[in-house]
Amino acid sequence: MAVSNPDRLKADIDALVPELIVLRRDLHEHPELAFEEVRTSGMVAQRLRSLGLEVQMNVAKTGVIGLLRGGASQPGAKTIAIRADIDALPIHELNEIDYRSQVDGKMHACGHDGHTAIALAVTAVLSKRRAELNGNVKFLFQPAEERLSGAKPMVEEGAMEGVDGILGLHLISTYPLGRVGVRAGTVFASADRFVFTVHGKGGHAAEPDKAVDPIVIAAHMITALQTLISRETSPFSPAVVTIGLVHAGTAFNIIPETAVLQGTLRAFSQEHRAKLLRRMQALTSGLASAMGGSCEVELFDGCPPCTNDAAMTAVVHKAAVASVGEQAVDSGEDIMRTASDDMAYFLNAAPGCYFVVGAHNKEKGGAYPHHHPRFTIDEDALRVGVEVLTRAALEFLG
Ligand SMILES: [Zn+2]
Ligand SMILES: [Zn+2]
Repeated sequence: MAVSNPDRLKADIDALVPELIVLRRDLHEHPELAFEEVRTSGMVAQRLRSLGLEVQMNVAKTGVIGLLRGGASQPGAKTIAIRADIDALPIHELNEIDYRSQVDGKMHACGHDGHTAIALAVTAVLSKRRAELNGNVKFLFQPAEERLSGAKPMVEEGAMEGVDGILGLHLISTYPLGRVGVRAGTVFASADRFVFTVHGKGGHAAEPDKAVDPIVIAAHMITALQTLISRETSPFSPAVVTIGLVHAGTAFNIIPETAVLQGTLRAFSQEHRAKLLRRMQALTSGLASAMGGSCEVELFDGCPPCTNDAAMTAVVHKAAVASVGEQAVDSGEDIMRTASDDMAYFLNAAPGCYFVVGAHNKEKGGAYPHHHPRFTIDEDALRVGVEVLTRAALEFLG
């Protein structure tokens, strides 16, 4: 297998790098938002077809699936899936680069242009080895990750049928170039958006005794919600509750009828997530009724945590060590993210591993975070991603 011939693999990838960068820059110049990725998916499909893959378009609206059938498949051969997200963000790019976004108000500010280019490069490298592949490789180009709404419908439409393992990566702009982070267990948190609407009784600001003040109730809620983390959560189980929006009132001298709080919950296990959601509802409803009002709770955009399978993680770890060396592979807690990613739905459908690839180069300037208008990646990270994914897929198929 190619794994036993690593120098040829490195040489193949090196030969692809110039094209890989051209491709990534083209995607960067033409960002498309969730479920609008028409140009992107058209380009992806055309490339997959040109390599002889079986292509399925319009999966979950703008997703694309490419199937590479191995030429040396024995009975019972496995199928490995490789997932890349393809969408951009509603952000106006502030980088002064010659391949700057050509679409005002839209930008690849999370590196998904890189993910798409990496996966396409992997299709090229593996296609070349098609005759020796014992098994299949299924490439999943997923729309609408930024809205956490593209992966779930792809799974529902059968994208994971017949898949024995799933791999994916995220480039990280604040993690040093040349490093790969791979870890078993949960690596990206769950995410739930919540809206609490507190109902009181409006009135004159000078006569609070004749009203039920929803602002005071909301203020107690904001403080009490933090005790779910500080008093009800094990210090060994990370979780976050943030209220990011408070809205109430129309004038300084009026007690309003309602107050609205919105925020997000992040947790690292399904059980912890469920418990916190349950307790949040009980706490806010109980507090509101104890103070003479009521609270309506709405939950949106829920996404489970991304949890890596131990055996799949071992496969990726081996591939990462072969690609960047043992000292450049991190497995500690510092690679965990409280951000969430709907890769979770693929990981729940088959054992898999989602890993991170460093894309920050100190010499090349500031490390802006993801979703920032000056977000950049060092393009040298692309070849690292290609190599780790390719090696891991070959190792898995054996
Ligand atoms: Zn993002
Ligand atoms: Zn992202």
